[in-house]
Amino acid sequence: MRDHARAVIIGGGVGGASIAYHLTLLGWNDIVLVDRDQLTSGSTFHSAGLVGQLRSSVTLTKMMMYGAELYRHLAEETGHDVGWHEVGSLRLASTPERLEELSRQAGWAKTFGLPLDLISTDEALERFHGLFDPADVLGAV
Ligand SMILES: Cc1cc2nc3c(=O)[nH]c(=O)nc-3n(C[C@H](O)[C@H](O)[C@H](O)COP(=O)(O)OP(=O)(O)OC[C@H]3O[C@@H](n4cnc5c(N)ncnc54)[C@H](O)[C@@H]3O)c2cc1C
Repeated sequence: MRDHARAVIIGGGVGGASIAYHLTLLGWNDIVLVDRDQLTSGSTFHSAGLVGQLRSSVTLTKMMMYGAELYRHLAEETGHDVGWHEVGSLRLASTPERLEELSRQAGWAKTFGLPLDLISTDEALERFHGLFDPADVLGAV
């Protein structure tokens, strides 16, 4: 173990790994990433790995959109398959209030370029290969 580095990052979860990655992108090469256990053995190990992008604030949404964009080219950049499968997602509404909320989310997402569309129950069912019961579903994004 070295006793000096320009930056010592404590915790090798997705947060620490991301800091190491981005410092390297900025040209830093004297970095140590330490973990009390195995790399990614914290919450990151338990994460299902889903990357939803729409969040409750513009800042968080933009961070998630940045993450998705990063994962798109990470395998090519590093030579490691990071297991990124971009399959999209559906949010279903089964009350008029929820449909109204989804409709607002779709409009809001468009303002920062996140592709999110209000679709009919039939279209959602088709996209999800018939794998949900459409009874009481009023629409989806
Ligand atoms: C069951 C579950 C499912 C989840 N699913 C998703 C999902 O689908 N999508 C999503 O976006 N998020 C998901 N999350 C949330 C996501 O896992 C966390 O937000 C994320 O992993 C946090 O990363 P982190 O780097 O901040 O923390 P961690 O991954 O917990 O990393 C912290 C690291 O620091 C180390 N550490 C702690 N203290 C010290 C110390 N004193 N010295 C040295 N090392 C130390 C730990 O060993 C650990 O490796 C899920 C979480 C859980 C629990």
